[in-house]
Amino acid sequence: MDIELFMCRTDNYGVLIRDPVTGLVAAIDAPDVAPIEAALTKRGWKLDIILVTHKHFDHVEGIAPLVAKYGAKVIAPVLAKAEVPNADRYVDEGDTVDVGLLRADVWATPGHCVDHISYHFAREQVIFVGDVLFVMGCGRVLDSTAAALHQSVQRIATLPDATQIYCGHEYTLSNAKFCAHIEPDNPAIAMRLKAVEAMRSAGQFTVPTTLGAEKSTNVFIRAKDAAEFAARREAKNTF
Ligand SMILES: [Zn+2]
Repeated sequence: MDIELFMCRTDNYGVLIRDPVTGLVAAIDAPDVAPIEAALTKRGWKLDIILVTHKHFDHVEGIAPLVAKYGAKVIAPVLAKAEVPNADRYVDEGDTVDVGLLRADVWATPGHCVDHISYHFAREQVIFVGDVLFVMGCGRVLDSTAAALHQSVQRIATLPDATQIYCGHEYTLSNAKFCAHIEPDNPAIAMRLKAVEAMRSAGQFTVPTTLGAEKSTNVFIRAKDAAEFAARREAKNTF
C-alpha cells in the first residue's frame, strides 16, 4: 500500500492510499479540496474512491467538488446518510471495501459519534480510525457515549502491536501533556512527550502511530475500565 499523508484545514490529516498493483487510489475522508488535489498532483495520481469515516463537516466538506472533478466513488457509513446523501455505497460493521486488490474490513466504531466507522486493512496491518483514537488520545464524545467509545478503543487495542494507526487530527502535543499529567511516573509517556515536543517544533507529523506505542503511552487505551476511561475523557475536556 502506498500512502500519502498531508495536512488539511488547520489540524486535520488528509490521507491517500494507492494499490500498487492496479493503481487505484482512495482518500480517507475529504477534509478539504485543495490539499487533496495537491497531494494527487504531487504523486501523479487520480482519485477513484473516497472512504468516509464519519459525518463531521471537517471530514466530508471536500466530497462534492472531488466527485465532480474526478468522478470518485463515495463509500460512507450507513448512519451518515443524512450528512453524506449521495454516496455510492453505505457500509456498516462486517462489510468489506476494496481499493483495487487492497481490502478493508469495516468496523463500526461509535463513541465520538454514532455513525463512526473505521477501515481495517488486515493484510497490510493498517487501520484508519478517523476521530476515534488519536496519538496518545481519543476523540471527544459527541452524539454517542463514553461507554461506546471505550468499547471501540478497546477493540482497536486487540490488533497486533505492529498495526499502523492513521487518525484524523494532529492533536498529539496536547494529548501527550495530558497523558503525562495522568501518569506522571510513566517513563514511556515522559519520553514520548519529549519526542513529540521535538517533532512538533520541527513541524513533523506524529501520525501514523503504532498500536504498540499507544498501549504503552495512551492513557485512554490504558484506562483500567469504562469508568476510568469516562473520567479521563471528561478530565481531558477541561485540561
Ligand atoms: Zn469528528
